Amino acid sequence: METPRPLKIYFLPFFAQGHQIPLVQLARLVASRGQHVTIVTTPGNAELFQKTIDDDIASGHHIRVHLIKFPNTRVGLPEGVENLVSATTSTTAAKIHMAAHFIQPQIEAVLKESPPDVFIPDILFTWSKNLSKTLQIPRLVFNPISIFDVCMIQAIKTHPEAFLSDSAPYHIPGLPHPLTLPVKPSPGFAALTESLLEGEEDSHGVIVNSFAELDAEYTQHYENLTGRKVWHVGPSSLMVEQIVKKPAIVSEIRHECLTWLDSKERDSVLYVCFGSLVLLSDKQLYELATGLDASGHSFIWVVHRKNKEGEEEEEEKWLPEGFEEKIEKEKRGMLIKGWAPQPLILNHPAVGGFLTHCGWNAVAEAISAGIPMVTMPGFSDQYYNEKLITEVHGFGVEVGAAEWSISPYDGKKEVLRGERIEKAVKRLMDRGEEGGKIRKKAKEMQEKAWRAVQEGGSSHNSLTALVDYLKALIPNRVTAT
Ligand code: UDP
Repeated sequence: METPRPLKIYFLPFFAQGHQIPLVQLARLVASRGQHVTIVTTPGNAELFQKTIDDDIASGHHIRVHLIKFPNTRVGLPEGVENLVSATTSTTAAKIHMAAHFIQPQIEAVLKESPPDVFIPDILFTWSKNLSKTLQIPRLVFNPISIFDVCMIQAIKTHPEAFLSDSAPYHIPGLPHPLTLPVKPSPGFAALTESLLEGEEDSHGVIVNSFAELDAEYTQHYENLTGRKVWHVGPSSLMVEQIVKKPAIVSEIRHECLTWLDSKERDSVLYVCFGSLVLLSDKQLYELATGLDASGHSFIWVVHRKNKEGEEEEEEKWLPEGFEEKIEKEKRGMLIKGWAPQPLILNHPAVGGFLTHCGWNAVAEAISAGIPMVTMPGFSDQYYNEKLITEVHGFGVEVGAAEWSISPYDGKKEVLRGERIEKAVKRLMDRGEEGGKIRKKAKEMQEKAWRAVQEGGSSHNSLTALVDYLKALIPNRVTAT
């Protein structure tokens, strides 16, 4: 008797946490459905997630990591710098992007040596389009931003007249909701996103870390615009917990911030984090500190502050005088200088709000935890995510932005004043009517997310549909038994 063998699928995550975390989670989900999965990456990147893979292997899943070399010498980066999380300047970031280009011959060799049935690279590997075509390996693209963002990008492209005026807010026509932007997107960002979307062409579809109920009308809008299929298989961290039956992140030691949170009242703490890339200017950090202090609410603030060599800075010159001593004495605040266990913090009962840069993973994680947001976009697509949170779904309060930024490193020139941040934090965290309504909406969306990942839910079904689609693409997978 002959039975189809499992699919052999290669995943290629981009060298940034916001891309790598959800794509590795997707790879784990596909492996949990009995397919044979290989994640191709470099040693420094593998280190960031290897534990979770070892755990899955121990559970009997067919998942492995295939290592290639990071071209440090060729791009002029020191050993060990292989991910944007280590970059503190646009120059270093550009070298990492260059490295992502230079790995192409290695990937070609891997694909030729042992061709997979399907190749799933991150959308940023635009060269994968021609490579897959040449090698005739079916390709699906992983897009770490939301479908809503893609619709915004397209609407902005088709309606340049929306930005003729010099004064904000700018009304964006042609979308399922009437939406506004507080700043004009830079032409550079438009060009960049267009080249990315071109990278989607020829793919069998796009996989996103989202769920159908969140993207609702925008998915239809996207499919009409591009003719491409979208698979919603998120929120990926919730999916991993439900389907792989494993924690989305593995941490051996309980972080001290979780113990600190244990002593706090339910929903009383604001979690503040700007993701893995954004570096705020000294002036902005100062204003943020004064805003948080003036809000009167408790907070955990993750500060990624690095000097030119990529080391954490010793002296906090940017903090208001006596800030750390004051918040410690009042037992009101905690600073985390380094990597925080974000999903665990968001799921702690004491956390009641998230001041976020609106990175897509941050948004998906906050929704999964039912945490309303205070939005302060950092760069690029994050301005759009803010709109999804505040104007489309209403589970967040907008701080907004005074300036468009395409880079997370250089710090914006225009500084948002502490009062503006204080006001937004109070609107959410004070136990008023408005905050209550926003909190309720966040809980409602969390319920939808939870339903999506259960058996019979939209993301659960979408994962099944994705695997079935891939199986149908490669019908002749037979092994004699
Ligand atoms: N993250 C984390 N701890 C940190 C900073 C970030 O665990 O101190 C994780 C966060 O949970 C998310 C990812 O890193 O999964 C960042 O992705 P996101 O899209 O939110 O933002 P980006 O870093 O790409 O701007």
